[in-house]
Amino acid sequence: MEAPSVASAVFGKLTMNFAIPEELLEYQDSVYEFAKEYIRPSTEQRDRDSEWNPEIWKKMGQMGLLGLPFPEEYGGQGADCLTTTLATEAFSRGSTDGGLTLAWGAHTIIGSMPIALCGTEEQKQRYLPRLATGEWIAGLGLTEPGSGSDAAGSMSARAEKKGDRYVLNGSKMFITNGPIGDVFTVMAVTDKAKGPMGISVFIVEKDFKGFSVGKKLNKMGMRTSTTSELVFEDMEVPEENLISRENTGFLRVGKATLEWERTVLVASGVGFMTYMLEEAVQYAKQRKQFGEAIFRFQSIQDKIARARMKIDTSRLLVYSSAAKKDRGIPTPIESSIAKLYATEAAIEVGYDMGQIFGGYCFIHEYPVERAYRDARLGTLGGGTSEIMRSIIAANLA
Ligand SMILES: Cc1cc2nc3c(=O)[nH]c(=O)nc-3n(C[C@H](O)[C@H](O)[C@H](O)COP(=O)(O)OP(=O)(O)OC[C@H]3O[C@@H](n4cnc5c(N)ncnc54)[C@H](O)[C@@H]3O)c2cc1C
Repeated sequence: MEAPSVASAVFGKLTMNFAIPEELLEYQDSVYEFAKEYIRPSTEQRDRDSEWNPEIWKKMGQMGLLGLPFPEEYGGQGADCLTTTLATEAFSRGSTDGGLTLAWGAHTIIGSMPIALCGTEEQKQRYLPRLATGEWIAGLGLTEPGSGSDAAGSMSARAEKKGDRYVLNGSKMFITNGPIGDVFTVMAVTDKAKGPMGISVFIVEKDFKGFSVGKKLNKMGMRTSTTSELVFEDMEVPEENLISRENTGFLRVGKATLEWERTVLVASGVGFMTYMLEEAVQYAKQRKQFGEAIFRFQSIQDKIARARMKIDTSRLLVYSSAAKKDRGIPTPIESSIAKLYATEAAIEVGYDMGQIFGGYCFIHEYPVERAYRDARLGTLGGGTSEIMRSIIAANLA
């Protein structure tokens, strides 16, 4: 019997393809320019005041960003995963607004893609066009006060079928866009005995009786996004708001959305890192100590070179995972590696670029301070670094 090649035995078929069409790069530039011109000037103030700005959101809708990956017949742009990833990186780098990039990702990817990927025709028609313009804002309700990493195993929100409706009880914690959202895709247990195979996902509207929103959480970073608990008390959800079939919420709908999350949302970290490097290089060239620009000191150059290396590596991992996904190749391991590497790199780059700013990195007005705080969420949200490591290692067990 022929031995498997080293590559296929350990990593599966290597299918990297590095060509990115010119028009896609031009589109990426246009998103960068829009975010830099229109959003960056107010980012520092909105971060300081933890302010949500509906005007900016409306403008993002007009730019086609809010429904970027939705099919065109439902008001979207029909963008694939790589295009959405490139746009997210450019938006984060141009706007320097991690919170708004997160709110956009929570709306477009984790909140809406379950409907776009697995919804019925009626669900797509009712929700996607309004979500694409930004008239409605979406979010995902998965995490609970008592269940995070073990989201499926410890889930306690329950949905019980009563006639033509489901009655939901429970609560969801840390929900991005919670205080401002109109529509949430919410996971709840429909058959406890089946564990992860007994979870369903529902489209919940904020006006449903029994729905309420907890107080806005005061966060360390991502402060331009809003986060809260969602509470369901005997909340009635019409049966037509079940996405896909009963008990397929976690393994089918969740899985379909997860790989999008672990490439598109992670791309914002690549944007932060690039921005922090740009700022630090500029500062190092003009800041003089001991009679010369600090850029000339070897230990400063070491930080700059390492940052560049980590950014390029993260970018390649994220793009490669997105491009593979677009070719129909499942990427559970690649997207976990991309998330783990890029989010940890963003914190390391934030630390090193801050060091270049000396004491100024500790002052709010200096841009690296905000990016460093925003980057902290990366290793926590959407599956922690510890969980990414266990997924990657389990694949090799
Ligand atoms: C700002 C923000 C926005 C968020 N937005 C959303 C959202 O929109 N929707 C949503 O559903 N959720 C959201 N989350 C929740 C986020 O995804 C969870 O915080 C995350 O999954 C971790 O869950 P936890 O906080 O309960 O930590 P826990 O699961 O309690 O973990 C605590 C620690 O234990 C470790 N740990 C747990 N299990 C293991 C294990 N098996 N092996 C090794 N270590 C382990 C973890 O890595 C971590 O270090 C958001 C969180 C934040 C902070």
